[in-house]
Amino acid sequence: MAHGNRIVRKLYLVLSIAIIGSGVFFFFFRDKEGPALKVSPESPSVSLRPLTVELKDEKSGLRSLQIVLIQKEKESSVITRQYPDRPRQVSENFALDPSMLTEGAFTLRLKAKDGAFLGGNASEVELPLTFDKTPPVPTVLSRTHNMRQGGSALIAYSLSEKPSRTGVKVGNREFPAYRQPSGNYLCLFAYPHDVERADFQPMIFAEDLAGNLGEGGFYFHARSGRYRHDRLNISDQFLNAKMPQFRNEVPEAQTPLDIFLMVNRKLREKNEGDLHRHGANTATSFLFDGAFVRQPGKTMATFGDRRSYFYQGKQIDNQIHLGVDIASFVQSPIKAANAGRVIFAGFYGIYGECVIVDHGLGLQSLYGHLSRIDVGEGQEVARDAVIGLSGATGMAGGDHLHFGILVSGVPVDPIEWWDPNWIKNNVEDRLADAVSGQ
Ligand SMILES: [Zn+2]
Repeated sequence: MAHGNRIVRKLYLVLSIAIIGSGVFFFFFRDKEGPALKVSPESPSVSLRPLTVELKDEKSGLRSLQIVLIQKEKESSVITRQYPDRPRQVSENFALDPSMLTEGAFTLRLKAKDGAFLGGNASEVELPLTFDKTPPVPTVLSRTHNMRQGGSALIAYSLSEKPSRTGVKVGNREFPAYRQPSGNYLCLFAYPHDVERADFQPMIFAEDLAGNLGEGGFYFHARSGRYRHDRLNISDQFLNAKMPQFRNEVPEAQTPLDIFLMVNRKLREKNEGDLHRHGANTATSFLFDGAFVRQPGKTMATFGDRRSYFYQGKQIDNQIHLGVDIASFVQSPIKAANAGRVIFAGFYGIYGECVIVDHGLGLQSLYGHLSRIDVGEGQEVARDAVIGLSGATGMAGGDHLHFGILVSGVPVDPIEWWDPNWIKNNVEDRLADAVSGQ
């Protein structure tokens, strides 16, 4: 019996250790936390736009979700869910029923439980929100907007409420507007060179914090542009001299002609795409005053020229020239066309050594093919300040300046910006509209 007692005692001990052990285990590793809850979009203001709630509970999985909205002490159920499979992660989309809500303050209460013992751990979140289903309404403050294909226009307007995003939309391009000290908005936009007259239908758009999108048309007069056709012969001499600088940008290209075609197509497209990113790096008011200064020299190419490229008598490519080429003597001092701030200074693909100066509201001037750069990014420049020397870096056959004007990254014809009358009628008068509100 003594022997049997010893076994019982031993078992008892092992059992005790196991029980205490599991108790310790339970104590330290028990899931005490409710599920993580996240509602998006995260905004204090909501509309009829669907919301998403993401639930997560890595330890015990999810048991249930309940969403209730409370307005003026009245509670309405939005969602009730049970998750018998105890998923670790769940995403639920839901929209608010407008019949349960009036515009104004309400509370959204979310309650989630996990699959842990004894009914699970609960998480509860109460979000104080505002229900808003009214989109911002624009009122145009400026009069007729005269536009030419490839040209620019400035519009002044006010909005019935503060937006999260506003501007002018042309097709799928958006030109942001900037709020002025008067509380009104100014938007510089383009009639892009590649949009046909029949497709040009600019609209003001404004989205509020809740996601309500308001749109409004305005009076404008637009005429299509006429462009020159230009033939460019690409020689082996040009290819051998110019293409090695791009070898790292298109490593897959084999011959100098391959490099040329890839640079002229892909790199050009990438460089032009990147202009949009630069366009957002802008001051919220104009930094310049009066007409832009045209660099002295002969015009070698104009804005919008349709260029056909020929190699050994065969047409190999087509592109559109999106600036004005001006040539004078080799290594001419290049001056800022107007006051602004340098936002880019360095090698920029087809434009070679390049400077971009911001003039505010998305308006920027670009100086390409430089042989030397004398300014740095962030530097403020006055009109006529020397920013570098002309050259033939990038995709340039000879020493010249490629001068570009950009409106939120979209190239426009610089000729308007060189014209004091155009500036007076289309820019200065619009600025006055934005201040006075007509
Ligand atoms: Zn050019």
